[in-house]
Parts: sequence; C-alpha cells; structure tokens
Amino acid sequence: MIPMVDLKTQYLQLKSEIDAALFAALESTQFILGPNVSSFEEEAAGYLGAPYAVSCASGTDALHLAVLAAGIGPGDEVITTPFTFIATAEAICYAGATPVYVDIDPRSFNIDPALIEAAITPRTKAIIPVHIFGQPADMAAIEAICIKHDLMLIEDCAQSFGASIDGRMTGSIGRLGCFSFFPSKNLGCYGDGGMVTCATEVMAEQVKVLRNHGSRVRYHHHIIGYNSRLDEIQAAILRVKLRRIDDFNTGRRRVAKLYSELLGDLVTVPHEDGKGVHVYHQYTVLTDRRDAIMAKLSEKQIASAVYYPIPLHKQDVFAEKCSGVSLPIAESVAGRCMSLPVYPEMPEESVRIVAQTIKGAIVG
Ligand SMILES: *Cc1c(COP(=O)(O)O)cnc(C)c1O
Repeated sequence: MIPMVDLKTQYLQLKSEIDAALFAALESTQFILGPNVSSFEEEAAGYLGAPYAVSCASGTDALHLAVLAAGIGPGDEVITTPFTFIATAEAICYAGATPVYVDIDPRSFNIDPALIEAAITPRTKAIIPVHIFGQPADMAAIEAICIKHDLMLIEDCAQSFGASIDGRMTGSIGRLGCFSFFPSKNLGCYGDGGMVTCATEVMAEQVKVLRNHGSRVRYHHHIIGYNSRLDEIQAAILRVKLRRIDDFNTGRRRVAKLYSELLGDLVTVPHEDGKGVHVYHQYTVLTDRRDAIMAKLSEKQIASAVYYPIPLHKQDVFAEKCSGVSLPIAESVAGRCMSLPVYPEMPEESVRIVAQTIKGAIVG
C-alpha cells in the first residue's frame, strides 16, 4: 500500500523532540497566546524574511483575517484563481466581497498574469494569487499589475511554505501572506493552524486584534473580532518542525525529480521554469488517461487523487453568479489533472512502483 501522505514516519523520526516540546507546553499550562506562539511567530517571520507574522486558528482564518486587514469589504471585488481549494474564495465572501476568477497558465496551474488586467474594474481592491501545489505564481508580473492599479496583493501560501521565486520566499512578496498548518501541508501541525505574514506593523496589529475578539487590551473591545488563535501545543510542535522545513521540502523535490524522470514520456509532468523553487505540496500531472491510470493504481493499492475536479466558477455555490464565465484552461486542467503520492520520506522504491504502475496502465 502506498498512501498520498505518511505523517506517521515523520512523527516517529521526530518523536523525542516533539513529545518533549508537547509535554513542556502541557506542564506550563499556558495554553493560549503563550511563549511558544510568540517564539514561533518570530521564527517563522525570520525564516520567510517577512517583517511580521501573526498566527491564527487555520489557513482559512488566515485568509479571512488578511482580507479584513486589507480593508476589503462589501461591494469590493477580489481577483483570484478558479483552480484552488474553496477556502480562498470563502475568505473573500466572508468579508462581503466578490471573487472574480481569472484563468490559469496551463503549465504552472497558477493565475495567468496576462489575463488579469482585463478583469480589473473600479471595484477591484486586491489580487489573491495561490501558489498552487507549492509552485510559486509569477509574482513579478502580478506585483507590477498591483502597483500600476493600486491593488492589494495577498498571497495564498497554504501549499507553499518554503517555496521561493526570484530569490524571495512566498509570503514575503505581497502585502499579506496566508499560511495553513493543516497536518498534511508542507509545514503541518497536529490539528488546525494558520498564520498571516504582514508587510507593515499596522496590518500585523490589525490581524492580532481581529484574532483575539477585537481586543488590544484585555476586556477592552474596539471592533468586532474573532476567536482565532493558534494554540501553544500546536505552536510547540511547529517550532520543532520549522527547524526541518528545508529538509522536508528537499525530500519532496527529490521524489518529484525522480517521478519526472520516470514519467516524462507518459504524462505531462510539472513544469519548472527555473525562476521559482517548487516545494511539491502535490505532484500533479496531466493526462487524457486519468480514469484508467487511477483504476490501475487503486488496483495495486496505490493512492491518487484529483485536486481539483471542479474549478470554483463551476461549483454549485458560485454557478449562478458565474453562469456566463468561461475559463477554458482551468476547465481543461480540472478534467485531466491527477496527483500522486508525495511526502518527504517517501522511499525511492515506492516512487518507482507508482511510475511502473502508471506505465503499465498506459502502455499495457
Ligand atoms: C489548505 C488550504 C487552505 C485552507 O487552509 P485550512 O488550514 O485547511 O483552513 C486555503 N487555501 C489553500 C490553497 C489550501 O490548500
């Protein structure tokens, strides 16, 4: 059996350190907004090269709080990609704003900067590129558009912790960056968790107030906020794992490189343009033989998955508002994409078995 991810192997490798950090956090009985949270925020900001980092309860909340801190509200439009997890769009809708979808680049699966300007209206307030599957979006081009049209740039980095482009870490490029620490993400905790990186102290302060009931001083509330904090136990675990993030991502890139060597003639393998460092949250290929390949893999007890089968403009929840919207690349990719098992500790032998099975399904 080959799973999509294997969290157990990593835990066992780090068990003594993680258990010690966890029990120390329990022993301290400081469970909310204690020393692990503030240290983790400093360490993560340092790693990413971001001026400020404020943790919160999930990646979805990170996006929500970032959208609010960007001053986005009812009547505003936010340009984003249709080829992402629903949370990117949910956050825009929570703020009362409207997601506007722009088609993707067929090679990177990220929002296509060449199509963005045509979607800008007087109501447009921000662009949220998603570094999908760990592949950085074309940030130089998107940044130039944001400057030209005075738009906020918010990065969805839920799948890209440690990825970089032109020497800059994702999450340090936009005004705000949103991270998820869901267990299977590149940097994952053992529950839900998230973080917002901020370019300015004012926005970091705003996210801090929003995550903690609209309060700067205890029992003094000047805005309506939320209860969205990373807890000390998760922060303690994340501090141990942050020290290994480069090794984790190197492990993922090793798996991806071998897959691409073995599968290059059989399916369309992930594109690397040399500018960005892809951290392979997913290893996703394109093929017209998806059903046959997935059936064969499943027969051999090898996991595979379709991320994502339906682009957001085709989801029931947006179908009515997006009835006239046609985004042919996203629609075509959604019909032909499939993701293969990838995790830092994946044995070379497993990668070879997956590739061999795919070859068997195509060549016979
Ligand atoms: C996982 C994910 C999120 C949401 O993160 P949660 O921590 O699960 O709330 C948002 N955007 C993208 C692209 C994701 O992959």
